[in-house]
Amino acid sequence: MNIAAATDPLAERARAVAESATLAIDGKAKALKASGADVIGFGAGEPDFPTPAHIVAAAQAACADPATHRYSPTAGLPALRAAIAATTQRGSGLEVEPDQVLVTNGGKHALYTAFQTLLDPGDEVLLPAPYWVSYPEQVRLAGGVAVELPTDAGSGFMVTVEQLEAALTPRTKALVFVSPSNPTGAVYPPQAVAAIGDWAARAGIWVITDEIYEHLVFDGAQHVSMPVVAPLLRDRCVVVSGVAKTYAMTGWRVGWAIAPAPVTSAMIRLQSHLTSNVANVTQAATLAALDGGLDDVAVMRATYERRRRVAYEALNAIEGVAAPLPQGAFYVFASVQGVLGREIGGRRPTTSAQLCEVLLDVAQVALVPGEGFGAPGHIRLSYALADDDLTEGLDRLSRVLSVGPPDDA
Ligand code: GLU
Repeated sequence: MNIAAATDPLAERARAVAESATLAIDGKAKALKASGADVIGFGAGEPDFPTPAHIVAAAQAACADPATHRYSPTAGLPALRAAIAATTQRGSGLEVEPDQVLVTNGGKHALYTAFQTLLDPGDEVLLPAPYWVSYPEQVRLAGGVAVELPTDAGSGFMVTVEQLEAALTPRTKALVFVSPSNPTGAVYPPQAVAAIGDWAARAGIWVITDEIYEHLVFDGAQHVSMPVVAPLLRDRCVVVSGVAKTYAMTGWRVGWAIAPAPVTSAMIRLQSHLTSNVANVTQAATLAALDGGLDDVAVMRATYERRRRVAYEALNAIEGVAAPLPQGAFYVFASVQGVLGREIGGRRPTTSAQLCEVLLDVAQVALVPGEGFGAPGHIRLSYALADDDLTEGLDRLSRVLSVGPPDDA
């Protein structure tokens, strides 16, 4: 008898991997909506704006070009790799050669590929928490060990060099750094980014820096790219970004990784077995997006800025909910500790995961529980949705979470 076939058919890695909490909530909210339910989706971080028309037009034109219908180089269209290198240099000041760029199916794919390329089994990866849901799963899928470093609102949800130093071991291979942060909206000041980058370079570890929200900063906060402000790190850094958040292109699935050329070559070899080239139509759209500059995102950012205030004020007005004012991205990350145990719609949720379930059932509002981000007792709310939906959703939350008049004793 074949013992292997007779037991659980799933490989250990498939058994162990958890579904993305953000996509799970998003899928549930969209399915409920499609079935006619009046659900407000604060779940996945997804701009409500349509992709700018000139980008869509470029994609339509690309569809009609027979060259689009064929395989193209795994690493990306040469013109797009050059445009990403040039845009990065213009934007953050990082000097990039086109052969350092790999075009991927979204930023998520770039991150996955980076972990697969850099990590050996047992390598430790420093992961400040709260973290985006996919980082620890991707680290584990590469055989790595995610070492969580907790941060809280008191420290602005920012990890310190002291914390990093204390977690360093001979097995530490890399740090995952993200600013502006998903889920907290924290933006590290330039000197903090430089200090962490210098520390990582001295420690001899790699940094995977996720810059997908680089253009979404508020109140004069400044995004800086770690290898620019910590030049010693240049040979040990993978920069990840993409068009999803900047150009309202989540569904197009285009991101990229920028790494030292030998690492990029290895990532290309891996991708050549995995997905080959990213769809040429979306690469053409991305080229148009980058060529078109940042005027559209300036308009979107002004709208997010207004919505950010609305969400921040409405959440903090609810007794038991507390959130810092986010400086970037499009999320408010709120503690709901003071709400847990309260009766809501005849139920008494005691964890943020349960609270989010109750809020979906009772108020038809979808939020992501902090558990998925390594921060139980919190919720993440994306305010990248239409103004009417935003205010209606916040009204519902404040209604169902409001503390009623005390019972007559
Ligand atoms: N990055 C977005 C989020 O955190 C999109 C969903 C996902 O891929 O996780 O909501």
